[in-house]
Amino acid sequence: MDFSLGEDLTLIRDAARELADNEIAPLAEEADRTGTFVWEQFRKAGELGFAGMLVPEAYGGSGLGSVALSLALIELSRACASTGVTLSVHNSLACGAIVEFGTEAQKRRFLPAMAAGEVLGAYSLSEANSGSDAASLKASAVRDGNDWVLNGTKLWVSSGSHAGTFIVFVRTNSNVEKPHRGISAFILPRETPGFTVGKAEKKMGLKGSSTSELIFEDARLPVDLMLGTEGQGFEIAMKLLHAGRVGIAAQSVGIAEACLAASIRYSGERVQFGKPIQEFQAVQWKLAEMRTRIEASRLLVLQASWLKDRGEPHVAECSMAKLFASRTANYCAKEAVQIHGGAGYTADFPVERFLRDARATEIYEGTTEIQKLVIARSLLRDGP
Ligand SMILES: Cc1cc2nc3c(=O)[nH]c(=O)nc-3n(C[C@H](O)[C@H](O)[C@H](O)COP(=O)(O)OP(=O)(O)OC[C@H]3O[C@@H](n4cnc5c(N)ncnc54)[C@H](O)[C@@H]3O)c2cc1C
Repeated sequence: MDFSLGEDLTLIRDAARELADNEIAPLAEEADRTGTFVWEQFRKAGELGFAGMLVPEAYGGSGLGSVALSLALIELSRACASTGVTLSVHNSLACGAIVEFGTEAQKRRFLPAMAAGEVLGAYSLSEANSGSDAASLKASAVRDGNDWVLNGTKLWVSSGSHAGTFIVFVRTNSNVEKPHRGISAFILPRETPGFTVGKAEKKMGLKGSSTSELIFEDARLPVDLMLGTEGQGFEIAMKLLHAGRVGIAAQSVGIAEACLAASIRYSGERVQFGKPIQEFQAVQWKLAEMRTRIEASRLLVLQASWLKDRGEPHVAECSMAKLFASRTANYCAKEAVQIHGGAGYTADFPVERFLRDARATEIYEGTTEIQKLVIARSLLRDGP
């Protein structure tokens, strides 16, 4: 067994680290304060190849795979969690959808600009009344000659206000016994007639990422923009989410690392009772606990990504990585605020942003509770 990253992966991680420290971190506080979308950060990441990490070279990407993507997401999310989620969704859920299920023509049309970071991708499954129960979604598409005509409203779309290419899931058949069999996937370009982006949510955190409503009013898509086959949409949605989750787990590790670094820094500077507070064992225990949970999370993320790259079963592993890493991010953010005392509760220190950003990691791409369902299902079916 070899836990070293090797030369190529080390180079990728270091390039992401340099980008994160020099170009992304300096913009993070302002993006959060002003709610400015992380366009500049996304484009910079794109210039270095971080927007096309799952896209094969033939379509303009680097095809480096899931381990490389996870390493990059950890580094970039350490600097800015909004940049992390934007890149995770773009790579895993949007580019990944077309790479895995697209036709040759769809790949040639959409992937090169997305891999270059010129066009941002989004993934739209959730609706107001279908979140965890995604199979109950209501937005629909009806065939009309050579088009599909879409109607309805989607919600919670990360990057929705800024994306150019959307992967959308709608109902194409209501007369099926099992509702998930009536769902199909489409690639929807932003300029599609009848398609508009609605309101953006006012969120607790991740303020540099837009989270928006999509509205279809007789939106017309040519039949060749269906992704996969009719009725395959739910299978596509789940397959992407199972793997995409590890990206959110990587984002969580990045947030947790930022919390630990801030806590070490502050506890070394803050003096109470005549000494830096990190000389108190109670504070050291917090740091040790954070470090240990981060390391365990990182190993789960890398293992799940490695299994995915090898084409081995990885669904439960991705869920375990997300379950543990997202909780670790929340644990570390809470402890980081505690170590900062009153200062941690103010916007003068970044840990309050980390706490607000961390909260989402236990909700999107499947809540903590849904991860446990996925893990338990696999455990009871396949054994430990
Ligand atoms: C910042 C942000 C970005 C997002 N980005 C996207 C995106 O890009 N694309 C997209 O499609 N969606 C996106 N989402 C939506 C997200 O995936 C959903 O919020 C999530 O799946 C939960 O759905 P819900 O909010 O409807 O909660 P609900 O499903 O209503 O869940 C409410 C509570 O009930 C629990 N619960 C529900 N069912 C069960 C069950 N069977 N067993 C136990 N507990 C259960 C949940 O765990 C949760 O605690 C985003 C959400 C947020 C907050």
